[in-house]
Amino acid sequence: MTTPDYSTDILIAGAGPAGAVTSIFLANEKINHIIIDKAIFPRDKICGDAMSGKTVGILKRITTDWQQYFLDNTEALVSRGIQFIDSDNNCLSIPFQSSAADTKNTPGFVSKRIDFDNSLIKMIDETFANFITDCSIESIEHITEGLLIKVKHAGVEKTIFTKMIVGADGRGSIVAKKMAMHKVIPEHYSAGIRAYYSNVAGMHDDNYIELHFLKEMQPGYFWIFPLPNGMANVGMGMLSSAVAAKKANLKQLMLDAIEKNPVIKKRFENATLESKIEGWGLPLGSKKRSLSGNRFLLAGDAASLIDPFTGEGIGNAMVCGLVASRHIKKALEANDYSAAFLNGYDKEIYHKLWAELKLSHYLQKLSSKPWLFNFVIGKASRSKELRETISCMFENVDIRKKFTNPMFYLRILFNR
Ligand SMILES: Cc1cc2nc3c(=O)[nH]c(=O)nc-3n(C[C@H](O)[C@H](O)[C@H](O)COP(=O)(O)OP(=O)(O)OC[C@H]3O[C@@H](n4cnc5c(N)ncnc54)[C@H](O)[C@@H]3O)c2cc1C
Repeated sequence: MTTPDYSTDILIAGAGPAGAVTSIFLANEKINHIIIDKAIFPRDKICGDAMSGKTVGILKRITTDWQQYFLDNTEALVSRGIQFIDSDNNCLSIPFQSSAADTKNTPGFVSKRIDFDNSLIKMIDETFANFITDCSIESIEHITEGLLIKVKHAGVEKTIFTKMIVGADGRGSIVAKKMAMHKVIPEHYSAGIRAYYSNVAGMHDDNYIELHFLKEMQPGYFWIFPLPNGMANVGMGMLSSAVAAKKANLKQLMLDAIEKNPVIKKRFENATLESKIEGWGLPLGSKKRSLSGNRFLLAGDAASLIDPFTGEGIGNAMVCGLVASRHIKKALEANDYSAAFLNGYDKEIYHKLWAELKLSHYLQKLSSKPWLFNFVIGKASRSKELRETISCMFENVDIRKKFTNPMFYLRILFNR
C-alpha cells in the first residue's frame, strides 16, 4: 500500500446533522477524527426546515447556550404547535405539549437548513476534528487493519486510511450502498419537493406548522411551514411506491393545490414563489435494516431513519450522532471494529427509535385511508380530550400507542 494522504482511527463521511453531531460528541470525549463533506458550507439541503423537540433536546446536550447559536444569531422562528388539516378541511390544532404550560422554553422552531447546518458545523471542535470540505468519497476498500478510502478533495484524488467509518452521507449514501448493501425500497421511501414563498396569508399567530392531507397526495401531505420575514417553506411529500403507481408529477400536484384547492388558493393569492421547486428523497425508517457491520456505522438518512408519518429526520439523525459517539468510544477502547462488536449500536438505536417509527408507519397507513383519517381529525378537532391526547403523542410513545388500539376509534365514535 502506498502511504495514504491522511491516516485516522475514525472517519466521518458527511457533515449534515448526523455527521456534525457525531463529531461534536466525539470531540467531547477528546477523540481525534477526520470529518469530510463533499459540499462547501454554507450549503443548502432540500428540507421542510422544521426542527422538532427531539432536535432541541440534542442541541441542549451540545450546549446550554444553544438558543444563542441557533435562534438569536440566525433567522429562525419559534413554532409552538402543529395543525393537521384533512381533505374535508377539518383543522386539528395541537400545541406542542410543553408550550402550553411554559412559554419560555422552545418546543420547536423553523430555520432554513442553509443557516441551521452552518450553525451546527461551527460547533465542530477542530482541536479534535480535522474537518475537510469539498471532499467526496469515491470508493471504499477493506485492507489489512482497516479501510482505504479514495476521496476527491478540491478535484484532486487522495486516500485516507481509517480503522472505521461513520456513513453520515445522507440519502444515496455510498457507505450504506457499498458496506451494508442497502437499496432504495419504494414502499419505505418518499419523494419530496420544497419551495420558498413570500406572503402566504393566514399563518397561525404562534407559527404553527401545517400539514394538509389532500386526497390526491396520499400517502403523504402538502405542508406550509412559517419562516421569518414573511417567508414560508412550502412543499409536499409522497410515498415513492404511490408516486410510481399513480405516475404522479409532484411539482404539478403541488402547483395544482396552490392554484386550484379553494382554501389553499385563497392563502396564496398574494404570495410569490421566491425559489426553484426542488426535490430530494426521504429514506423512511418503516423497515429495520442493518445499521452497522465490519468497520462501519450508519447514521441519519444513510441509516434510513426518517419518521414515516411526519417526515422528520433531523432529530433522529442527531440521536444517531450521540449514540454513534458512545459506540465508537467503546470500539476504540476494545480495539474491536467487528460487526459483532458494533451491533450494539443497532440495538441501541432501535431500542430508542423503533417503537416510535413503528407507530408512525401505522399512522402513515391510517392517513392513506381518507375516510378514517378525516373521521379522526374531524372528531378530534371538536374534542378537547382528544386534542390533549394527540398533543401528548408528540412526546410520549405510550400515548401514541392508543392509535393502534381499535377501542380508541370506538371511543371517539361515541365521543367519549
Ligand atoms: C423534502 C424534504 C423535507 C423534509 N423536511 C423535514 C423537516 O421539516 N424536518 C425534519 O426534521 N426533517 C425533514 N426532512 C428530513 C431531513 O432533511 C433529513 O432527515 C436530514 O437532513 C438527515 O440528516 P443527515 O445528516 O443524515 O443527512 P444530510 O442532511 O443529507 O447530510 C448529509 C451530508 O453528507 C454529504 N455527503 C453526501 N455524499 C457525500 C460523499 N460521497 N462524500 C462526502 N460527503 C457526502 C452531503 O453534502 C451532506 O452535507 C425532509 C427531507 C426532505 C427531502
